[in-house]
Amino acid sequence: MQCEARLSSIFDHSITGICFADLDGLITEANEAFLKIVGFSRDDLSSGKLSWREMTAPEYRHLDDHAIERMKVAGTCTPFAKECTRKDGSHVPVLFSAALVSGSEAELVCFSLDLTEYKQAEEKVNYFAYHDALTNLPNQELFKDRLKHALLAADRSGEMLAVLLVDLDRFATINDTLGYVTADQLLREVAKRIVGCVRESDTVSRFGGDDFALLLTELVHPEDAAKIARHIQESLSAPFNFDEQELFITSSIGISLSPADAKDAVTLLKSAGTALNRAKKLDGNNYQFYTAGRTTKALRQLVLEHNLRPGLEREEFIIHYQPQVNIQSFQLVAMEALVRWEHPALGLLYPSEFIGLAESSGLIVSIGEWVLRTACLQSKAWQDAGFDPLRVAVNLSARQFQQPLLVESVAQILKDTGLDPTLLELELTEGSIMKDPNQAIRKLHELKAMGIQISVDDFGTGYSSLNYLKRFPIDTLKVDQSFVRDITDPDNEAIVSAIITLAHALKLNVIAEGVETQEQLETLRALKCDEVQGFLFSRPLAVTEFTDLLAERLTIGTPKDYSTTRLPDLLSVLHEQFR
Ligand code: C2E
Ligand code: MG
Ligand code: MG
Repeated sequence: MQCEARLSSIFDHSITGICFADLDGLITEANEAFLKIVGFSRDDLSSGKLSWREMTAPEYRHLDDHAIERMKVAGTCTPFAKECTRKDGSHVPVLFSAALVSGSEAELVCFSLDLTEYKQAEEKVNYFAYHDALTNLPNQELFKDRLKHALLAADRSGEMLAVLLVDLDRFATINDTLGYVTADQLLREVAKRIVGCVRESDTVSRFGGDDFALLLTELVHPEDAAKIARHIQESLSAPFNFDEQELFITSSIGISLSPADAKDAVTLLKSAGTALNRAKKLDGNNYQFYTAGRTTKALRQLVLEHNLRPGLEREEFIIHYQPQVNIQSFQLVAMEALVRWEHPALGLLYPSEFIGLAESSGLIVSIGEWVLRTACLQSKAWQDAGFDPLRVAVNLSARQFQQPLLVESVAQILKDTGLDPTLLELELTEGSIMKDPNQAIRKLHELKAMGIQISVDDFGTGYSSLNYLKRFPIDTLKVDQSFVRDITDPDNEAIVSAIITLAHALKLNVIAEGVETQEQLETLRALKCDEVQGFLFSRPLAVTEFTDLLAERLTIGTPKDYSTTRLPDLLSVLHEQFR
């Protein structure tokens, strides 16, 4: 009797859920702990329909089957973890074991231990194995892991990624004067601000102390990393408020790039560290690339970016004009307007240095409008001065072409300047047309309707569907200079020849750009190219120089047809025409 009393107190007070059931799973008796774990009441039990097997979440039922088989053979089963579905539908993780009741072949006693708290503790341990407890950011371990994965992915896709190491200047002093509690608060705040400067796909990590590390993926230019570094430094330079006290800090940042600086995680981190040390030695509050030249370039880009708008307002931009010539007669048929920036401190800058910046800041729209207006005005002025009308070609950037009011703006400029629309040619790249082909077709038709000529610049370097080429109202294809430069290479010659044949079949005009040598000219002539532009004839010229060229041409008289002239004699003709 004493024994039975003991057993029943175990049953009633155990924290382990215990139930008796038959082999099919039907529960005949259960203790409070069992009912609590699975969320059923004693009334539910009284209904005689509760089955421990049905409580098992479906994806774990095969484990129950296995346990039943074991019990039939050995009388007991090995404890295993599974999940049960509670009465309210929620899931509970349990450690489960069962055995045949002694002397019975049909009755089971089952034990279930609630693992919820254990699991939560385990998750916490796992979390803090990979996260920093102070800021909740990924720790060095997780950072390295992500970096390795990102490097593998970047290697496959050919994308650029950057590692940035951020360090607060004079943090030791801050720690000493403010004490650990405030310093910790500061670090948490710093973490938040840094996270606010990057995309969600980037990783911000704290390595310990005041050392933060960033992994930036899918970068297009090295300057993108510099931009983020600058953004972080600006964000950290705003005052921090603690106990009604304003605290100002500065930071130093080291940047390494993959694949340029290294393709493995260890070297990349080391390179960023080297760059960070250089930043620190420069008195802090700056960023440095591992490759020093990049820092200079990024800083120059920063200066240019800041000077772009004031430069436009102060009229620092100028246009050079490059002659375009008929390949048979050498007659000057048109000119291309090429923008330059006379920077007060940096001298004459070419479009490669600032058009990209102007594109990304949106200022290209204003600059482009200025170029168009100025080129039209100048062209008209030359006509008014008595020179023969010449077509003027103006480059339009993708962003400019996508402006909803582009057509209206061009029309307005033509009206204001009084230039005959048939004397204006707009140069577009394949990329800007193909971005939204339907929209492009509509706009091009509107421009054509005004009498404007359209040419496709850098043809052959982008992607264009030949089908669209037929549908676009285009007048001219400009063979990209990369093909012309190496036209002696049979592959390039074949490409140029194909472009010319294609253009002529579609009744388009072909102009080759970047013609520098007589050999290139001869080959282009043989391939029946229509027009040429390049240093062989003339570099892009300032307005006064171009005016001189026009004036000299007046004295040369009517151009002759040089189509039959042999190569050695061409040079003397060119000297006569363009000096
Ligand atoms: P692009 O339209 O293909 O212009 C031709 C470029 O080739 C010009 O460079 C020109 O100076 C250069 N070039 C001409 N002949 C030769 C030659 O014989 N050999 C070599 N190596 N180069 C030659 P630039 O002026 O530096 O312009 C570069 C690019 O900048 C232009 O390429 C054009 O895409 C863009 N750009 C120029 N002006 C403007 C503008 O006003 N607006 C826009 N959106 N882009 C412009
Ligand atoms: Mg062009
Ligand atoms: Mg071009």
